[in-house]
Amino acid sequence: MNTQAPEQSKPSNFIRQIIDEDRASGKNQGRVVTRFPPEPNGYLHLGHAKSICLNFGLARDYAGICHLRMDDTNPTKEEQEYVDSIMNDVRWLGFEWKDKFFHASDYFLQLHDFAVELIKLGKAYVCELTAEQMRDYRGTLTQPGKESPYRSRSIEENLKLFAGMRNGEFPDNGKTLRLKIDMNSSNINLRDPVIYRIRRAHHQRTGDTWCIYPMYDYAHCLSDMLEGITHSICTLEFEDHRPLYDWILDTLKTPCHPQQIEFARLNLEFTMMSKRRLLELVEGKHVEGWDDPRMPTISGIRRRGITPEAIRNFAERVGVTKKNTTIEIELFESTVREDLDENCARAMAVIKPLKVVLTNVPENHEEWIDCAWHPKKPEMGSRKVGFTREVYIEQDDFMEVPPKGFHRLVPGGEVRLRHVGIIKCEEVIKNSAGQITTLHCSLDPETRTGMSGSNRKVKGTIHWVSAKHSLAAVARLYDRLFTVPNPADIDDWKATLNPKSLELVDTCFVESSLKGVPTLSRYQFERVGYFCLDASSQSAGQPVFNRVITLRDTWAKAQGTGAP
Ligand code: ATP
Ligand code: MG
Repeated sequence: MNTQAPEQSKPSNFIRQIIDEDRASGKNQGRVVTRFPPEPNGYLHLGHAKSICLNFGLARDYAGICHLRMDDTNPTKEEQEYVDSIMNDVRWLGFEWKDKFFHASDYFLQLHDFAVELIKLGKAYVCELTAEQMRDYRGTLTQPGKESPYRSRSIEENLKLFAGMRNGEFPDNGKTLRLKIDMNSSNINLRDPVIYRIRRAHHQRTGDTWCIYPMYDYAHCLSDMLEGITHSICTLEFEDHRPLYDWILDTLKTPCHPQQIEFARLNLEFTMMSKRRLLELVEGKHVEGWDDPRMPTISGIRRRGITPEAIRNFAERVGVTKKNTTIEIELFESTVREDLDENCARAMAVIKPLKVVLTNVPENHEEWIDCAWHPKKPEMGSRKVGFTREVYIEQDDFMEVPPKGFHRLVPGGEVRLRHVGIIKCEEVIKNSAGQITTLHCSLDPETRTGMSGSNRKVKGTIHWVSAKHSLAAVARLYDRLFTVPNPADIDDWKATLNPKSLELVDTCFVESSLKGVPTLSRYQFERVGYFCLDASSQSAGQPVFNRVITLRDTWAKAQGTGAP
């Protein structure tokens, strides 16, 4: 028996308690084998990430293994592109399945043979009710069902008809194989559920070998059993299916009987966790693709610049419970910020530039200022930032007629240029249309680093880049994809898409030290936000930076929805 304790730092939860008890009692010889069983009909999202962190995390902490299984029993919606993306996403999150990669379709023959066994046990029959009739016969939550007239066929006849189904003798949907359980059960899932249907669909792995396909509930428990899964963890909506899961394994007297355990699925404000709806966003071109940085998909999150560590921390923080809730977006955002603050190098970038000429700095002045990459992490080293007579500052950092409490640059006022010294605005230059084009400022040489006045206090510090030594860049300022916290609950959910979820700004300048950095490099642009270099930079011919997240929650304020 494996007695290795789970990592001390992990908070316990009810699933860990079940596993601890199982190990204490010697159940499953102390082994922990979990699985993550996505249907390859779309890209994985943050909800799946929670399930991945849970299943692979348990396997890791209990020195077990987590299988990755493609639940590919529905051939019409599944594609290799999705399989590849799923494998990529699980690996990116930091998990490994070793050689335990499976497909439910690997078991099609065994599943068929179990169905034959169920027929032989008198526990399954071939039914000819149409889908509509079957709905009628099924009854409701308050009314019992009615038995199908085909329920009492002989075992021989059922065997013959099921073989006919398999051999393509009947049209699609012409017959089904159903379990013979109990049409009076208070649990509708036990009212003779269908376990096989006829469907002449090409399967991406088994081709045209099969024209009958097993239903999820039937395939799932048997796949778990065949793989020797010990703890089959799924979301709460399957709680009512557990009696069926157990019935199938008990009736077949299988040598192994995994325990199904349900937990609450992840819901997050201002987004949606349904592959079907995410597919609609992609197909309706509301976003640029599955990996659009506004999507809650793992590929979107990755492209946005969020790290796998942040996702794992988030999964840990939301925890594992039995109660469905919607997690506040602030929890997600603060987890992302914490991770970026800790790990991102700092850099200077100006998103909407205003030219400043430092009139007392010589025209040919060229200075390389040593700036630390991270204020709290000297081990990250430093870079040289070019400083010249002409610099750009953020348009927002200057106001000709400032409101009260504006601590940045104003006519005749002073502000500190980060890493340089204090400048004073001497003159505002405008074009014929009256728009401000340039500021003429003077730099107080006594306030430069190492000089006697370097500690002189002014209210504001602003960032800048050298006009000569900076790179033109594009910034994509992403915001929440929806304007309401609960789009999934709204019938016309597409009407709640945020029209301002992407602002493209092509006027940016970033410091020259960012030249040629690899895709997905992340920075905190000081005072602006966290940014990540997008893969499209190459084809764009200039750096394209995705805003991962703002430095603070400015959103609630902008929307006028509370938070100061
Ligand atoms: P969707 O509704 O987005 O299509 P799904 O449940 O049909 O999701 P699957 O591919 O079947 O998608 O999911 C694979 C695993 O991920 C399942 O075990 C499922 O329980 C889990 N899962 C899916 N969505 C969530 C979620 N929001 N929170 C936690 N786990 C989830
Ligand atoms: Mg599913």
